Amino acid sequence: MNSSAFDIAADVRAGRVSARDVVEQHLATIADREADVHAFNLVMADVARRQADAVDGDVAAGHDPGPLAGVPLALKDNLCTRGVDTTCSSRILQGWKPPYDATVVTRLRDAGAVAIGKTNLDEFAMGSSTENSAFGATRNPRDLSRVPGGSSGGSAAAVAAGFAPLALGSDTGGSIRQPAALCGVVGMKPTYGTVSRYGLIAFASSLDQIGPFATNVRDAALLLETMWGHDPLDSTSIASPLPTLVQGLDDGVRGLRVGIVEELTDVEGIDPEVRAAVSSAARALEDAGASVDRVSVPSTMYGLDAYYLIAPAEASSNLARYDGVRYGLREEGTDIGTMNANTRDRGFGAEVKRRIMLGTYALSAGYYDAYYGQAQRVRTLIVRDFAAAYERFDVLLSPTSPTIAFEAGSKTADPLAMYLSDVCTIPTNLAGHCAISVPFGSDSVHNMPIGVQILGRELADALIFRVARALEVNRGA
Ligand code: GLN
Repeated sequence: MNSSAFDIAADVRAGRVSARDVVEQHLATIADREADVHAFNLVMADVARRQADAVDGDVAAGHDPGPLAGVPLALKDNLCTRGVDTTCSSRILQGWKPPYDATVVTRLRDAGAVAIGKTNLDEFAMGSSTENSAFGATRNPRDLSRVPGGSSGGSAAAVAAGFAPLALGSDTGGSIRQPAALCGVVGMKPTYGTVSRYGLIAFASSLDQIGPFATNVRDAALLLETMWGHDPLDSTSIASPLPTLVQGLDDGVRGLRVGIVEELTDVEGIDPEVRAAVSSAARALEDAGASVDRVSVPSTMYGLDAYYLIAPAEASSNLARYDGVRYGLREEGTDIGTMNANTRDRGFGAEVKRRIMLGTYALSAGYYDAYYGQAQRVRTLIVRDFAAAYERFDVLLSPTSPTIAFEAGSKTADPLAMYLSDVCTIPTNLAGHCAISVPFGSDSVHNMPIGVQILGRELADALIFRVARALEVNRGA
């Protein structure tokens, strides 16, 4: 099933195809390959069938089900779904059923989308390969010996495998863009505050953002356009109206100034073929009428270091709520303190424990200013350096990930090597900006996809979609 979300919705709305048939076709694809890929923690076959029937009922009654009529949608399993297991791929949440839906889930269902399953992730979204899941790793559909990236690896793999044309992920330091690049699909992190996070289980609240996955730029724009906008239930959500995204997508890049970020392109350990892909993407944009130059954004070099203090600090606070009383797992103990410790010891995996300890240390009296305070100062520098770059350029360009998808198991023993996977994506989160990854070629040895990243300042979401679309049109084969 290779139809775009756009085409499916158009066919379903016009009554040419039934939403039920669309769901059945996708469930058949899932039945075929899911055992190898393991994109899902849960396939919601019956719920999806019921939702599809409701969409068909609307069409039959002459009501328009909405812009995503009958389009199967995969949800990262850190998005709350009422009455349906939501695990964050952690044992600590096993069996917990949220009493409410995330705002994005409600909005997309109201637009006719059909939630088809909950996708696997690195536990609590901490990781870059989806190997940190308590329920087994996800594999890259393009080569099952390789990782799909992470932490939204299940969502990226679901779209790449044709299990669903659309998926949602969350991006705290690159968790949408990096797996999109590694699986050869489009993935986008919107500007902080544009998409409601009500019902997204928090990892690092000053960085977390929900965003779209799709096989093509237009579908990703449609998905974001349908779900974003103010939500009174999320106090960080932007109150002013947001622009349309699909309209204007094909306006081209003539006259736009594009800056290739030196620090993110000449980064240590970069695969020469990835760097070459960025150069040819730059050339494609030049051919389409943009002007391209190199630009230095010096403090982005320290993004990774700042992130690995700020994100764990926030996580250590956000994850304090899993105490054996309020959610999921409880391991008994002789008193409440022991019960609490036993629950957290059994419930959390190694990476989550590492982050909680790192964050607790960084926030402790005597170290707070040296670590957390210093990281916040670096964050301010990154914001300033980006602001200077955006005085000269409309958008910036870099690799999404320094490498193609790596072999499963090759980085699990070395957390630092794993962290380096996000070196190109993290600065965007620290700045609160938007960025998108678009497939642009593949490597010559393994034929694995390469992703190019387009970065924009806050609220430049429509602009980066337009540039991404130009790259998609001009990428040749
Ligand atoms: N890989 C990064 C981390 O492990 C980013 C994760 C994310 O964006 N959720 O923290």
